Amino acid sequence: MDSVLHTTGRFGPRTLLITTAAVPLTGWAVHAVALHKKLAATRKDPLTGLLRRDTYTARARRLLARHGNDTAVVMIDADKFKAINDGLGHAAGDTVLTSIGARLTAWAGPHAAVGRLGGDEFAVVLQLTSGRRAQRLEQLARMLHTPVVLDDGRTVAVAASVGAATPDVLGTRDLTALQRAADAALYDGKHSGRAVLATRQHVTVPSINGRRAGRPGTSVWGRAA
Ligand code: GH3
Ligand code: MG
Repeated sequence: MDSVLHTTGRFGPRTLLITTAAVPLTGWAVHAVALHKKLAATRKDPLTGLLRRDTYTARARRLLARHGNDTAVVMIDADKFKAINDGLGHAAGDTVLTSIGARLTAWAGPHAAVGRLGGDEFAVVLQLTSGRRAQRLEQLARMLHTPVVLDDGRTVAVAASVGAATPDVLGTRDLTALQRAADAALYDGKHSGRAVLATRQHVTVPSINGRRAGRPGTSVWGRAA
């Protein structure tokens, strides 16, 4: 009895009021965290965990505004990906897409915008100084040509094409123009195994994905792609 009276004395009506208020507040906090997680998940591609187009675009524009000429816009498309789906099944294809996503994230680092634009097409925007461009793009092309090991132990030969565009070469910081030029450069070097750096000619490519462009590109090794 004594102890009950003592307890009541220590935790008075004010404490009770705070406790009563804290219960629903805690509930709301848990709810808010869950909601935040749910929202974050909707910004990501469920297969690869990369950013979806809208979120990628917003982040890419911020990077371009912040780093200006020291930014690179890189487009990536898996080579002969349909053959992987057809030959090994869609689950194997999914594993390859997930591996490409992981490689792009590892290559670009935590501050970059890395997005899956759809199917087997990806985009990366990152801070990259002109002096490191060639070496870093060469490194990316190599990474994307490393075989993927499936869950069952089988190894799949993979390849991807890479096109890059930079504001200093193209004279624009407009993401859409840079992406279009990078895409046209990608298709200039399609299936060549070489990353291609866009020239000014690529800015005005009239077609989607540069497929009808046929413009000359410069590989990052300085040779025509
Ligand atoms: P290219 O070398 O010219 O790039 O041709 P490709 O065979 O890579 O074919 P393309 O890029 O035109 O088509 C990509 C294919 O990717 C088409 C579609 O069936 C497949 N695909 C799209 N989304 C998914 C996915 O989430 N999982 C799997 N497994 N396949 C997908
Ligand atoms: Mg493809």
